[in-house]
Amino acid sequence: MLEVERADGVYIYDREGKAYMDLIAGIGVSAVGHGHPKVIAAIKNQLGKYLHTMVYGEHIQSPQVRLAKKLTDQLPSRLNSVYFVNSGSEAVEGAMKLAKRYTGRYELVACRNAYHGSTQGANSLMSDQTFTRGYQPLLPGVKFMTFNNQEDIAVITEKTAGVIVETVQGEAGVILPDEGYLRQLRQQCDETGALLIFDEIQAGFGRTGHLFAFEKYGIVPDILLLAKGMGGGMPIGAFIANRKVMDVLSHNPVLGHITTFGGHPVSCAAGIAALEVINDKRLLRQVVEKEALFHHLLHHEKVKEIRSAGLMMAVDLDDEKMVQDFCQKTHEMGLLTDWFLFNETSFRIAPPLTITTDEIKKASKIILKALDDL
Ligand code: PMP
Repeated sequence: MLEVERADGVYIYDREGKAYMDLIAGIGVSAVGHGHPKVIAAIKNQLGKYLHTMVYGEHIQSPQVRLAKKLTDQLPSRLNSVYFVNSGSEAVEGAMKLAKRYTGRYELVACRNAYHGSTQGANSLMSDQTFTRGYQPLLPGVKFMTFNNQEDIAVITEKTAGVIVETVQGEAGVILPDEGYLRQLRQQCDETGALLIFDEIQAGFGRTGHLFAFEKYGIVPDILLLAKGMGGGMPIGAFIANRKVMDVLSHNPVLGHITTFGGHPVSCAAGIAALEVINDKRLLRQVVEKEALFHHLLHHEKVKEIRSAGLMMAVDLDDEKMVQDFCQKTHEMGLLTDWFLFNETSFRIAPPLTITTDEIKKASKIILKALDDL
């Protein structure tokens, strides 16, 4: 266990001053690295003005307005209304409620081995009951399909309120959508009137080398979910939809979703700074170059496969024990890697996007040495 003293860039330091290179970025949170100077400056600036003043939406707060504007400026015109929340799970809850209200239906379709969060609504979307057995009954009307399985798409029907998928599956061990799969989902949703929800809580904010992962596939969802990297290390999330869809939360009954701290002004100020750092063509291009460098360097007989979407990477080893031993070993060697919830044979590489090529070379050397020693 690591007791954190401070963190800077790609390093976390413990109480004894030992440096750990962070290859997981708090599971995709610290996309701009720890303590990015622009994020810290934005936080300090907002601290001098105001913190929380009122439940979200009651007052006009410029950090919220500016962040929403910056986000919608980057998004397809259909995604023009942002609802800020506190976390990824709350964004998922918001989207589930919105899909139900807008369609008047209650069935939801999710993918097997997806992770959408740990609140009871989000837990209902989890196919693996290992984590949810203790909390039954959860929400009724959830149907599962296997990601990339074309036949399963038929579970989306005129009864479906929303279909929630990770644009790139994270906890399943970085599974990319097959060519045409997201288009088929879009088509089925259009034909049945279900809302298509992309969970980019892990894959968004530059992680895949695009500001939003769906850009690569040219398919626009009805609701987009963001969190994690969005706040530059501060807690924030959002569900984003068309104004016409979002409006149903405001009437009959009113207050369709209430959140006290959602869109906290300090988190939004940090989010604006983080977005400015990430939404830079050079940085996004470098994400893909850094992905290629990892692929180039991580040749080892124990590496079976590397799956990746930008700097969202899974490295396949032989078995679960090997992965656990590997994570333990790299930890001792001052490098933080991690395993996946639904893929026991892979370890995770998801560093700050700002990691340098020298740091990647150094990290890769440690990884290869740890694999040698297994
Ligand atoms: N969706 C995805 C794809 C995630 O990876 C996560 C967090 N790992 C969540 C939702 C839930 O986010 P949070 O932990 O902020 O509630």
